[in-house]
Amino acid sequence: RRNIAVMTSGGDAPGMNANVRAIIRAAIYKGCHAFAIFEGYSGLVKGGPEYIKEMKWHNVRGWLSEGGTNIGTARCMEFKERWGRLAACKHLIEAGIDALIVCGGDGSLTGADLFRSEWPSLIEELLGKKEITQHQFDTYKHLNICGTVGSIDNDMSSTDATIGAYSSLARICEAIDYIGATAKSHQRAFVVEVMGRHCGWLALMAGIATAADYIFIPEKPSSRAEWSDHMCEIVKKHRARGKRNTIVIVAEGAIDINLNHISPEDVKDVLVKSLKLDTRITTLGHVQRGGPAVAYDRNLATLQGVAAVEAVLDGTPDTPSPMIAVAENKIVRRPLVEAVKLTKSVARAISQKNFAQAISLRDSEFNE
Ligand code: ATP
Repeated sequence: RRNIAVMTSGGDAPGMNANVRAIIRAAIYKGCHAFAIFEGYSGLVKGGPEYIKEMKWHNVRGWLSEGGTNIGTARCMEFKERWGRLAACKHLIEAGIDALIVCGGDGSLTGADLFRSEWPSLIEELLGKKEITQHQFDTYKHLNICGTVGSIDNDMSSTDATIGAYSSLARICEAIDYIGATAKSHQRAFVVEVMGRHCGWLALMAGIATAADYIFIPEKPSSRAEWSDHMCEIVKKHRARGKRNTIVIVAEGAIDINLNHISPEDVKDVLVKSLKLDTRITTLGHVQRGGPAVAYDRNLATLQGVAAVEAVLDGTPDTPSPMIAVAENKIVRRPLVEAVKLTKSVARAISQKNFAQAISLRDSEFNE
């Protein structure tokens, strides 16, 4: 019988609970013991029965729709250090775990991949220090790792959707619909800041779904003169056609051509000074992360949870760690390292102002 553990890491996202539920139940269904690591990599570094618990079928009852993550998540600096990963290795072996599924963003999956590649040297060090027995060394020679992508930002390469992104999008659209009612009544303009870190997916998709007048995303920077003229021209045109409200969506990572952050205040200033519009700012903040998962995320997380258990059961020391993705509506395995590398290359290209390269890298995943 295999012992499979699941943990959630990085920012919480609706659908993480559905993913954990599916992993635990699929593992039990396949005849394995299922474990949960509580509080992300912190729990792994601290170890012991408080943080590494065996989970039974009924322990995850009712988790399918719940927002957040019931097994906790954390940002853990210790896991970025070798000594932290050494402690994590020891604690997994002590708990008898031989496969780990991590649901998180690109940082969490980078950590997972590093952990697996270092595993042989970690267990050797533990044996040398007599912290594990020869029998444990022989039994836990290899750790199977698999990643599922949980993030509201939809910022991971090699997958069309991350678990939580559609729930967040739904919440943003709902909030903008509410704001729209006030805006229309008072003929106001609203500048709405949405999450997404360095990725404009939430802002762009919300903009289309709410018929926003203008959208700022990190992937399409322009100079201040350019964006202010362009935005004012469009807003003026819409007002001239009789539109009573104005909605401008700003991604939190929006930047201009010099990589300076474009803030909601910058946008408001232009709307007030150039168009004399009564303008308010709404920063949606953490409501975008909370609440129950939409049906799409529940289903995605469930299908991917089952696929992740199958992937670790198929894993061999020679196969690269997989990441469970969705591509053209199919649940597929992708090499975790490649997906993380591509995600980081896009971020690097943007930080070097190489926007054409960033777009071509992003497109490359669709041209495989
Ligand atoms: P989100 O997209 O929601 O921010 P994320 O997984 O990218 O999620 P991070 O804060 O980047 O969030 O990473 C979560 C945790 O993963 C970190 O606190 C750390 O414990 C681990 N981690 C991240 N990067 C590395 C790394 N390079 N090496 C080892 N561990 C890492």
